[in-house]
Amino acid sequence: MEIESMVANSALIKAREGGGSKGRSCKWKEMLRFPHISQCMDLAKSIERDYHSLCVKQPIGKKLFQVFCQSQPDLQNYVSLQDTLVRSSNQCIPIVQKHLQSCIQNLELDPCGDVFHDCKEELHKYLSGEPFIQYQQSMFFDRYLQWKKLERQPITKHMFRQFRLLGKGGFGEVWACQVRATGMMYACKKLEKTHVKKRRGEAMALNEKQILESLDTRFVVNLAYAYETKHALCMVLTMMSGGDLKFHIYNIGEPGLDTNRVCFYAAEVCCGLIHLHQQSILYRDLKPENILVDDKGHIRISDLGLAVRLSKGSLVRGRVGTLGYMAPEVISNGRYGMSADWWGLGCLIYEMTAGQPPFRARGEHPKPSEMERRIQTELEEYSNKFNKVVKGLCSLLLTKDPKERLGCQGSKGKEVQSHPFFKKINFRMLEAGLVDPPFKPDPRQVYCSDVQDIDEFSTVKGVTLDRVDSGFYTKFNTGSNPITWQNEIIDTGCFRELNVFGPAGTRSPDLDW
Ligand code: ADP
Ligand code: MG
Ligand code: MG
Repeated sequence: MEIESMVANSALIKAREGGGSKGRSCKWKEMLRFPHISQCMDLAKSIERDYHSLCVKQPIGKKLFQVFCQSQPDLQNYVSLQDTLVRSSNQCIPIVQKHLQSCIQNLELDPCGDVFHDCKEELHKYLSGEPFIQYQQSMFFDRYLQWKKLERQPITKHMFRQFRLLGKGGFGEVWACQVRATGMMYACKKLEKTHVKKRRGEAMALNEKQILESLDTRFVVNLAYAYETKHALCMVLTMMSGGDLKFHIYNIGEPGLDTNRVCFYAAEVCCGLIHLHQQSILYRDLKPENILVDDKGHIRISDLGLAVRLSKGSLVRGRVGTLGYMAPEVISNGRYGMSADWWGLGCLIYEMTAGQPPFRARGEHPKPSEMERRIQTELEEYSNKFNKVVKGLCSLLLTKDPKERLGCQGSKGKEVQSHPFFKKINFRMLEAGLVDPPFKPDPRQVYCSDVQDIDEFSTVKGVTLDRVDSGFYTKFNTGSNPITWQNEIIDTGCFRELNVFGPAGTRSPDLDW
């Protein structure tokens, strides 16, 4: 390894270790200083007063509403009920009693389900009434507005430290970065403005950003910030320290992964696809380099540039994706729906198991027309690396006719999860993030090619950026993504350290007029 690469890697490893409070700039408190409450009045007027969004969905909002309830003697019990819904106190008994019957019923119907669903609903119904009104007149809501104001600060590149290059894609590069104020590590996907313009990638870039910001699941990378620099559009995403699956399949030991890992990754990808499909999003770009591994060994789907939102039950046309992984119905340029992703999952499981993709031998580069022919007419071959069960699953997913394919029979992917290959997986636990991954990346290793082996990005000449382009950049440049930003503030400990009020529950000076 060259010295340049070693230096870049050790800087990244060190930053990752110190991630959190150690990685904060010495000026972090200034960067996150609350604006005076008088400066938050525009926000107070404009934000939507929606209980669910303010007090349930947004992590900082939820915390402040809880602190508020705890400060009210008559609401304290509701908070503890909400927290545990088990250690219920006398005051809450009527709610529990009222729903006891339905709890028992739920238990009988599905012992792993959300038994307390109705209880929780009732609780929210109560809290969203009078308590929510009182909350909005309290100093806790003022504090919420201050955080919200910080959240909405314009984002510039100066707010981040940049580390090594992690990968390269169609329109630009992905770099490791760290937020100076909080110490949080992220990956920044930079799209060169000139490249985007030359290759007419505007709609695609905006599409990727908008779909990412609409999602909130542990199986797809989160978008934390979207901003622009003079030369690039930047999407700041969940840092996936374990690198992509292509690296794991081909660059560590013999090509391929052991069955336990194949099963675990396939199961998590399956959950990710089901989630996307539930939101009517077709992913269309499933392949090992787009599936990323985090520091604990969980995976997330990334690269949503080709994803499309379908109107309910409708189909789409378009020969997009990466040829080797395109489904027959995509190649034949007809209309298709979610079936294309289940084919993609078949390709992924095949490649993780075999250490090579289906329809193409290692090192072989058939002409596109030949690849198309093979995908549409040839049966894939299975080496002795495939046991009976995984072979069974692959051949069901790689069924040429989408109507016959596993995953496409109307149960929205549940039938894939029920395949014997996944019999060891408890999907409910998996969805809650409670299953231990079979492989944990080494925190001292950097799971990507050496810096100098990732090609330089060529510069585009003869493209000038104009007013029309700025209009599009403005749409892209929306700054922090609320839920991800609030989680960053909480997870790095900044919330705990900064969210202090005056002594004994009095207002702090920045909340006083
Ligand atoms: P493109 O749309 O151009 O294919 P990707 O989003 O797939 O770009 O990123 C290219 C490569 O960069 C990926 O294959 C992966 O190796 C790396 N990469 C992308 N996002 C991340 C991330 N969040 N964390 C770590 N590495 C990443
Ligand atoms: Mg990609
Ligand atoms: Mg892409």
